[in-house]
Amino acid sequence: MRLGIISALAEEQQGLLEAMESPYKLIHGKREYTAGKLWKIDSVAVLSRIGKVAAAVTAATLVEKFDVTHIIFTGVAGSADLGVRVGDVVVADSLAQHDFDASPLFPRFEIPLTGLSHMPVDRELSLKLSLATREFLQNDAQVHRGLIGSGDQFIKDKAHLMSLKEALPDLLAVEMEGAAVAQVCHELGVPFAIMRTISDNANEEAATDFMQFVQTVASRYAFGIIQNFCKSLT
Ligand code: SAH
Repeated sequence: MRLGIISALAEEQQGLLEAMESPYKLIHGKREYTAGKLWKIDSVAVLSRIGKVAAAVTAATLVEKFDVTHIIFTGVAGSADLGVRVGDVVVADSLAQHDFDASPLFPRFEIPLTGLSHMPVDRELSLKLSLATREFLQNDAQVHRGLIGSGDQFIKDKAHLMSLKEALPDLLAVEMEGAAVAQVCHELGVPFAIMRTISDNANEEAATDFMQFVQTVASRYAFGIIQNFCKSLT
C-alpha cells in the first residue's frame, strides 16, 4: 500500500510533514509532494490548492506519477445540515459536484458518461477513517457519515445553501475539492476516503469562522485523525 494524503490547506499538512520519517520532496506541476513513512505507512502528502480542477490534477498526479494505491483527503467544510455543527467531522459516503448541470442533456448533477451524480467512496477505507475520527474526537464532537457536495464556490450565503439543500436534501457539508478527487479515483479505480471538519455554517459569517477555525483547530484534527488512521492500517 502507498497512501496519498491530500490536504487543501497548509495548516493541515504541516504536522504530517513534521511527523514523516525519512521524507523527500519532489516538485511537480506547481505542487510539492513529500514522500516518506507516516506511522509505518508508505505515504505521499501534498497540498491540492483550492477548487475542483486543482484537486483533480493533484489526485491524478498522485496516482500516475507517485504510484499511490489509496487516497485520503483531509480538509474543512461548511455545514449544510442543522444537525452538523462547527467542530463536528463529516466522513463522506458519497460526493456530488453541486455546481455541475448538463441538463437537459443529462439529469442535473449527473457526470456525463459515468451515469452517476453521487460518486461512492471506498467503504472499507471510509469505515477505518470514521473509526479513527471517532477515536480522536472522543465525546467532544460528532462524526457524521453522508453526502458531501463540492463546487467551485465558497458558500457564504444562506439562500444559496438552502437552494442547494433543496436540490440535494441529504447534503451534510459543502466544500470545494472532494467530489473532484472522487471522480478521478472512480475513473482510475483507486480506493479513497474523504473527511471534512466543519469550520463554518456556509452563511454570511462563513469567511470569519473559517479563518479562525483553520488557525486554531483544523491542523490538530487532521494530524490526530491521520495518526489514528495510519496506526489502524498496520
Ligand atoms: N481565503 C481562503 C480561501 C479558502 S476557500 C484562503 O486564502 O486559504 C475554503 C476552503 O475550505 C476550500 O478548500 C473548501 O474546500 C473549504 N470550505 C470551508 N468552508 C467552505 C464553504 N462554506 N464553502 C465552500 N468551501 C468551504
